[in-house]
Amino acid sequence: MSERLAPEGRILVGGEWVEGSGAEIVATDPADGTTVATLAGAVPADVDRAVRRGEAARSAAAWRTMLPHQRARYLARTAELIEDRSEELALLQSRDNGKPLAETRALVASAAGTFRYVAALLETQEGSIPPSRGDYLSFSVHEPIGVVGAITPWNSPIASDAQKVAPALAAGNAVVLKPAAWTPLLALELGALLLEAGIPEGLVSVLPGPGRTVGQAIVEHPGIGHLSFTGGTDTGRELAATAARLLKTTSLELGGKSPTIVLPDADLDVAVNGILYGIFSSQGQSCIAGSRLFVHDSVYDEVVARVAERADALRVGHPRAEGTQLGPLITASHRDAVERFIADGLAAGGTLRAGGARPTDPALAAGSYLRPTVIDGLRADASIVREEIFGPVLVALRWRDEEELVEAANDTSYGLACGIWTRDFARAWRIARAIDAGTVWVNTYKQLSIATPFGGMKDSGSTREKGLGAIRAYQRQKSIYLGTSGPIAWAD
Ligand code: NDP
Repeated sequence: MSERLAPEGRILVGGEWVEGSGAEIVATDPADGTTVATLAGAVPADVDRAVRRGEAARSAAAWRTMLPHQRARYLARTAELIEDRSEELALLQSRDNGKPLAETRALVASAAGTFRYVAALLETQEGSIPPSRGDYLSFSVHEPIGVVGAITPWNSPIASDAQKVAPALAAGNAVVLKPAAWTPLLALELGALLLEAGIPEGLVSVLPGPGRTVGQAIVEHPGIGHLSFTGGTDTGRELAATAARLLKTTSLELGGKSPTIVLPDADLDVAVNGILYGIFSSQGQSCIAGSRLFVHDSVYDEVVARVAERADALRVGHPRAEGTQLGPLITASHRDAVERFIADGLAAGGTLRAGGARPTDPALAAGSYLRPTVIDGLRADASIVREEIFGPVLVALRWRDEEELVEAANDTSYGLACGIWTRDFARAWRIARAIDAGTVWVNTYKQLSIATPFGGMKDSGSTREKGLGAIRAYQRQKSIYLGTSGPIAWAD
């Protein structure tokens, strides 16, 4: 089977595969710098066309009056098609963003799972009949918003695309999806699979192109009523400001700098494995990466020594090679930025405990690889402790007192995730409730389910995706009153 279903070099505008007229996008394999595909990206005029065709498709009777269980069939069919092509999609995603195959397979499975879950959820959505206070019945119903703009980052393409597209379609909307320019291919494949599943033409557009032009045009288009964004906090803040001015609703999934906390009684074998997975899987390019390690003084030396030793032993390699644990970073320029953070950390007095350099294997020289890095001995105000690095860099910090620990763990603008390693569940509960984070894991890390709401606090965002509310986030509520008696007496 061919690796690609979407027509080579084309973008999906309002149901049609067309050659873009925007700047050339070269999808590059971060493993060796080779070109995976080239295409001309979208331009703002494509956004306008996509919105107009999306609005026409979603308000056409065929989609507008389709019963939920019928609409659900298209979503379930999409899940099946994703599964049928799972190996091709996983391979393409690995070539597009450098993640090891084991990870891209999990992302593809997650995308299929999202469509399947949302299809099932769609059949359970109910309105309500609130108690009336007069001669009427009032109904509370949920309706589509119209056309939804979905903007996604490069780190987990098909999974983050599915998390937006599936509930937005289930809710009865059309979707204009803009993937990151660095990783356009999986979103285009998803567009092709949706068409193959029979989703009416025009309902989904996929417009790769730069955020500054195509993304901005989506944010500002008056025909788009809701913006669903996953990406960096600065971009999200700017987008939310524009959306507020235009009175659009938003879903925002933003950055993180998550603490992972080791208590004195933790099972250290379990903790060390979880800490390594939490920061170094996906090469640290994960919003929920556990990038700040807080270890109790009594076990600090042992834990940091073990984490550093195991980090040095992790297998950095070609993302399609058997057994690779860390592939390359997304681009050489991103690796440069991560290396600058490491240099800043060392200049600020940090001690390098592991990594800090590129692998020496000549077979990896053409890729943007970096060894997993552990640094300690830093003050809490060092940039490497405070800022999101989005790379394989862990900073270790010592704590002695629980109150100070909670204060230090919360001393960040972010609030996305947290890990706690302990055998004391009462203490884990107390700390979990005190930490500002949308998700807290105890004795595990980076476990995610489409059935469990996900989102951040503070600068990590304010809304939730997934879970029973997934579809509602893409709808607006309407109240309908039905009179149950004769004429209103006032007018007599
Ligand atoms: P960016 O914010 O740079 O980009 C995200 C998306 O927004 C891309 O598609 C980008 O387009 C687009 N974009 C950029 N500027 C604008 C603009 N002015 N208007 C509209 N769209 C714009 O983030 P990254 O791609 O670098 O992704 C990494 C970030 O995403 C990290 O901070 C990470 O923590 C966060 N993230 C959060 C997750 C969560 O669920 N909380 C999950 C995954 C990542 P282009 O790239 O083409 O310019």
